[in-house]
Amino acid sequence: MTSLSDHAGFLPLAQLPSLVAQLMAHGYQCLGPTLENDAIVMRELATADSLPRGLQAEQAPGRYRLTQDPQQRYFAWANGPQAIKPQAFAPQESLWRVERDATGALTFAAVLPAVRPQAIIGVRACDLAALALQDAHFMRAGRRDAQYAQRREQLFLVAVQCAEPAATCFCASTGDGPTPATGYDISLAELADGFITVAGSAKGAAVLQALALAPATPQQIETARQQGEAAAAAQTRTLPSHTLRDSLMSRLEHPRWDEVAARCLACGNCTAVCPTCFCHAEVDEPALSGASSEHARIWDSCFGESHGHLHGFNVRPDIRSRYRQWLTHKLATWHDQFGRSGCVGCGRCIAWCPVGIDLTAEVAALTASEVPS
Ligand code: SF4
Ligand code: SF4
Repeated sequence: MTSLSDHAGFLPLAQLPSLVAQLMAHGYQCLGPTLENDAIVMRELATADSLPRGLQAEQAPGRYRLTQDPQQRYFAWANGPQAIKPQAFAPQESLWRVERDATGALTFAAVLPAVRPQAIIGVRACDLAALALQDAHFMRAGRRDAQYAQRREQLFLVAVQCAEPAATCFCASTGDGPTPATGYDISLAELADGFITVAGSAKGAAVLQALALAPATPQQIETARQQGEAAAAAQTRTLPSHTLRDSLMSRLEHPRWDEVAARCLACGNCTAVCPTCFCHAEVDEPALSGASSEHARIWDSCFGESHGHLHGFNVRPDIRSRYRQWLTHKLATWHDQFGRSGCVGCGRCIAWCPVGIDLTAEVAALTASEVPS
C-alpha cells in the first residue's frame, strides 16, 4: 500500500496532457472521462488534450445531473454510470468456438480477446476496490478465467482522489475511499494548481520518471490529505461498519422485502452499474450451416426472471425473492465467499435506480427492528 506522502511528485496543471501523452508514448490506448449523453463515461481519448474540465455530477436516488464546477477542475465529478468493470469483464464475449470438418469431427478452441495495453485515467478508489473483488472471483486459484485475465493484465490504472463525492456515495463507511490506497499504477490528487502524483507500481514509476516531476512539497501533500478527509466527512450515507451477514440472514422473512418489492421494477439497472456484480449467462450461437458454433458469455442480472430457472422451476419467481437475493448476496453471503462485503460504497445502484431505491435505506429499515417472529 502506498500513501500520498510516498515519493510524491507534483504535476503542474498545464502538464496534465503530458501525462496522457507519456502513456500513449509507452504504448497505451488511453481511456478517460468523456461527456456522452449527458453523463461521464470512459471512452478512448483521441488526444492528450481531450480530458473534459469543469464538470461536477449531482446525484440523488434516481437522479444524475452534470453541473458546472466553478473551480474548473478536471476530476470534480464523482463516479459516472460506468465503472471500469467492462474493461476486464466484457459485457458480451465469446469464450470458445467449435468447428465441424468434412468428416464430422469437432474441434474446440478457446476464443481469447485481442487486447492492447490500456490506460484508464480517472479511476476512483471505490472502483479499485471493486476490481480487486472481480479479480478475487475471476482469477481465483485453480479457476482462472482466461478472457478476464487477458484483459485485466493489460490494464494500467491512473486513480484519482475524490474531492467532491456525490450525495449517493458512501465509500468512507465501507473503507474503500475516497482516497485511493492500493491497486493503482499512478494515483493523482487534484489541487488548485496541479496534481500530487504517486506511483503504485514499477510501470507507474516508469511513466512518472519520464515526466521528470519536482517532488511535492509537504504543504501540497497536507492539502491533499485534508481534501481526502473533508471528502470522507462530507458523505452522509453509510452502511454499518460491522458485518451485516447475520443480521440480514436472520431477517429473510422480514415484511420490508414485500415493501421494497412493491417499488422495484426488476429492471436490473442496479446490477448493470454495480462494479462488483459478476453474474452472467452463457449462450450458444450456432452458425446456420451447422459447421460451427460459438459459446458466448453475456452479463446477466439476478433481477431477471430467467436467472432463477433451475431444471424446470424457478427458485426466485417473484421480485421480493430477487431483491432479497441481490441484497443478501451483496452484503451478507459475499462474506462467506470473499471475506468481505460485495459493496464498495460507490452509490451507483442508488443514482441509477429508476425508482430511487436506496440500499442504505433498505438496510437501515431491515435492521432497525427486532427479528420478526
Ligand atoms: S451495491 Fe450499489 S453502492 Fe454497492 S458497489 Fe454495487 S452499485 Fe455500488
Ligand atoms: S432496485 Fe431499482 S435498479 Fe434495481 S432492479 Fe429494482 S428498480 Fe431496477
